[in-house]
Amino acid sequence: MKRLTQLLDSNRQWAEQISQDDPHFFETLAQQQAPEYLWIGCSDSRVPANEIVGMLPGELFVHRNVSNLVIHTDMNCLSVIQYAVQVLKVKHIMVVGHYGCGGVKAALESSRHGLIDNWLRQIRKVNQKHSELLSAWDHSHQQLDRLCELNVIEQAFNVCETTIIQDAWAAGQEITVHGWIYGLNDGLVNDLEFNASEDAEVEAQYNLAISKIEALRQLALVSEKGHNARNLWDRVRQLFN
Ligand SMILES: [Zn+2]
Repeated sequence: MKRLTQLLDSNRQWAEQISQDDPHFFETLAQQQAPEYLWIGCSDSRVPANEIVGMLPGELFVHRNVSNLVIHTDMNCLSVIQYAVQVLKVKHIMVVGHYGCGGVKAALESSRHGLIDNWLRQIRKVNQKHSELLSAWDHSHQQLDRLCELNVIEQAFNVCETTIIQDAWAAGQEITVHGWIYGLNDGLVNDLEFNASEDAEVEAQYNLAISKIEALRQLALVSEKGHNARNLWDRVRQLFN
């Protein structure tokens, strides 16, 4: 039998380190959790929720699945959202995608991947919905980046449309839904600036976020091939500010 000795050792060191900084840390945390944030992200091992935003245990409630999808029949994701909203009363929900997402890439391919193709069907729908917009990028990795961004916006929109968020907003509960995307190659979060705090804002926030990708397309068309995505995003933000 192989034991995961190395991992267990590093766990002991980690717990000791935290206890050295705050001797009551785990004792206090065991009594209750009161995170203000729900993170809905991709299962990808390179996108560790707490580390990216520098948060300790107890500060972030997390749900992860392949390609950070929010599907209205997914009991797992909906149960997490319900618990986060109704019991923990989180103030913010961020849907966090990442560039170079393997799930999004697989959805762009025509080859079969097995069972997961049923899950990835949702991303194919996003791809079809925005096919005209995406057709501007003939570079496959740029097209993938844009589809990763569009997928985040669509999933953030889906969060807003759940009965859980709709009911919470109707009852006057303060929750804002955000759309973020993380860069594997620089460790930075790119804020897609979808920020909906009430039902009346959802459509406008969705349209605004999509129009920024539209603007990105205009810039991409006049820029030389392979232009850095982060520079393009900075220019898009200047246009909208
Ligand atoms: Zn991913």
